[in-house]
Amino acid sequence: MSTSNLNPHIALLPSAGMGHLTPFIRLIPLLTSHNVKITVITPHPTLSISESESLSELFTSFPQVTRKQLHLPLPPLDDEPSSKSQDPFYNRFEVIRRSSHLLSPLLSSLSPPLSALITDMSLASTVIPITNSLQLPNYIFFTSSAKMLSLFLSFHALDDPKAKDFIEISGFEPIPKSWIPLPLLDDANNAMKIYFTECGKKMKESSGILVNTYESIEGESLKAFNSLPPVIAIGPLPPIKFERNKSLAWLDDQPAESVLYVSFGSRTAISREQIKALGDGLVKSGKRFLWVVKDKKVDRDDETELVDLIGEELMERVKEKGMVVKNWLNQEEVLSHPAVGWFLSHCGWNSLTEAIWHGVPMLLWPQHGDQKINADLVERIGVGMWAKSWGWGDSVVVVKGDEIADTVREMTGNELFRLRAAQVQDDARKAFGEGGSSYDRLNDLIDSWKCSP
Ligand code: UDP
Ligand code: UDP
Repeated sequence: MSTSNLNPHIALLPSAGMGHLTPFIRLIPLLTSHNVKITVITPHPTLSISESESLSELFTSFPQVTRKQLHLPLPPLDDEPSSKSQDPFYNRFEVIRRSSHLLSPLLSSLSPPLSALITDMSLASTVIPITNSLQLPNYIFFTSSAKMLSLFLSFHALDDPKAKDFIEISGFEPIPKSWIPLPLLDDANNAMKIYFTECGKKMKESSGILVNTYESIEGESLKAFNSLPPVIAIGPLPPIKFERNKSLAWLDDQPAESVLYVSFGSRTAISREQIKALGDGLVKSGKRFLWVVKDKKVDRDDETELVDLIGEELMERVKEKGMVVKNWLNQEEVLSHPAVGWFLSHCGWNSLTEAIWHGVPMLLWPQHGDQKINADLVERIGVGMWAKSWGWGDSVVVVKGDEIADTVREMTGNELFRLRAAQVQDDARKAFGEGGSSYDRLNDLIDSWKCSP
């Protein structure tokens, strides 16, 4: 006979970077509203200031959530430079992975005993053995698209992916090799390749894989996962409105749907030359724009003054119709602002799902990682235009201002994108609303915890 537990206790274990932390945070109100008790295990210290600020905001807004810190040994990875990556976030994944053994006593000391752990995808291979030995169900949260998940789960078993033009994964449409994250095609080992390969393999032993996606956008991919563990589409997870800051006075003064918002997410730095060409292109496009500039991958390292980065002359030209900032803006506030009409995005999965949630059409300029695979998805559903010939990875080819201006005008001049974005927004909200596919999946999952002993 099954017993019931009306207040299951779930621990969440996010990894490094806002793109990995944010979807975990968005799960919290959804779970607490079903009387789920939550403990969040936060790797400490965080790599970026934005992560530490988001966490403070989270624990202030949800005092009922318990915080446990996983203390990381720093400085990281000096012993094995061969596995180091150019990307500090992938290196931080590796440090957290190597600290996973610290979890065992932490997990078993929590009270009441846990019903399950939800673990970031980058930690699957080191955390699953621990939860297995504790006989604790472990759900992996995959923080990108279902299409990307197909690559993640299969990559370790591919035979020489570098040698082919397309990556063939049974049940899925082939993926062009040129869309594959570049570190995966390196001969040398690197932190991304290690986590991708090892976690993709080990995830099959998890209790389930949660994905921040939904059926009407990725139904084909979701159907194609037909072996265990179950892939559970629970998105698009609604953004949470925190109280923090926001100096958006400039946006308040702009006409409705007139502003192009330009941002490359939380961890993508653009070369100085490209920053200048982008600024030139935005000015030449004649559109109003709100442009967030990032010069360093990690915000803590970013000390250059805005004017030194883009130069006095460009700064003056921006003033005609634009606003450029170098600080963190709350993207949720920007995308939900009535003045914002379009989004030039680097195609991080959170950014794309947020723009879909707010019905904002996109100009897609993927930079690295999963972003080309994500861009393709958004282009197919008709909500964005992908500038396919523009730079990728550390490509040194700078896209010129004139070309950027032309493309911005072309994209923003096409009203079909806006019409389609409104339809897709509607579908997304239905998926997550009562009776929608993602709503049902999440409720089933919570019910399953309530029915477990
Ligand atoms: N974000 C933000 N303000 C910024 C930059 C990023 O609020 O100035 C948020 C954005 O809304 C998203 C997350 O940070 O939720 C970035 O995740 P995404 O997957 O889009 O890209 P990543 O930064 O991981 O490349
Ligand atoms: N501006 C900007 N980024 C900033 C500050 C200012 O792009 O960080 C531009 C923007 O176009 C704004 C204009 O400068 O509308 C005027 O800014 P503000 O009134 O704040 O100060 P000012 O530069 O005139 O002293």
